[in-house]
Amino acid sequence: MVILLKRQHDKKQLEHLMNWLKNMNLEIHASEGSMQTILGLVGDTTVVDIDLLKALDIVEDVKRIQEPYKNANRKFHPKDTVVNVGDVKIGGGNFVMIAGPCSVESEEQICCVAESVKKSGAKILRGGAFKPRTSPYAFQGMREKGLELLSEAKQKTGLPIVTEIMDLSQLHLFEDVDVIQVGARNMQNFELLKELGKINKPILLKRGLASTLQEFIMSAEYIMAGGNENVILCERGIRTYEPSTRNTLDLSAIPMLKNMTHLPIIVDPSHATGIARVVKPMALAAVAAGADGLIIEVHNDPPHAACDGAQSLTPEAFDNLAKAIEVIRPMACTYDQGVCQ
Ligand code: PEP
Ligand code: MN
Repeated sequence: MVILLKRQHDKKQLEHLMNWLKNMNLEIHASEGSMQTILGLVGDTTVVDIDLLKALDIVEDVKRIQEPYKNANRKFHPKDTVVNVGDVKIGGGNFVMIAGPCSVESEEQICCVAESVKKSGAKILRGGAFKPRTSPYAFQGMREKGLELLSEAKQKTGLPIVTEIMDLSQLHLFEDVDVIQVGARNMQNFELLKELGKINKPILLKRGLASTLQEFIMSAEYIMAGGNENVILCERGIRTYEPSTRNTLDLSAIPMLKNMTHLPIIVDPSHATGIARVVKPMALAAVAAGADGLIIEVHNDPPHAACDGAQSLTPEAFDNLAKAIEVIRPMACTYDQGVCQ
């Protein structure tokens, strides 16, 4: 971190600042030029409140040289992290297809979709039991019963399951869940992230609706700081001024995140677009850009889905997509230590 001091700075205030920084165990390298004085800080600068520094009378500007994330940082961990979900590997060249309905609706529905996406090559089954809905009057998910039905589909098909947690009070119900999803709306629920850092299960962390990539990684850092290194990042579209799609898929997040972090990055073209016919082109583009996987909403009867029918693929359309992905995969970007080859 570098602090640029104002030209006419008060010596007493500077002494105060130096003592304050030293008390945080930081080494200070001062460089006094004829025009400007610069303080270079060495040590763990994550403890420094950058806004507080900027607000000081004698400070002109502050620049962070190092990223505030350590555990998730590619610089300190050049090799890709591979997350294991049972026998399924994600990251480090291992590509995974996750598919299933937005919400679990019935035993017949989840088991039928699970069987069909498995046949098409999906390795993990998705399905929401606790649903974050904009309207309190909309279907809120089958909750505990939904988790039971997911477990049943897991038993029948052998597919591991991923489902969303909305609150810490639900954690005890997630024993049989293989991957816990933190949804976009909860990306900055720091208390939830801290608790998920204490467990060993893989966490699928979705990007917040209006989050920068650094904020996204900082949320992963919360989980990792607690000791859980099994984090999978998911780009699911961000809010922009464009209303024709539900969100705007930020495809450049793939190469950017690959460079910033060693964690696997998957893409959700269903929530990113909100339109079933737009899912395939965006899914293929994400694969070409080198995503480590996709998470796709598939429903046996989209027009009658309790939630997100407009963006859900039929099992046939999913099969068609899976075949197209097989064609694209060998030509997709590969990354070496975060750089596209
Ligand atoms: C979901 O995957 O069901 C979901 C609600 O996604 P998001 O948090 O990305 O909106
Ligand atoms: Mn959905």
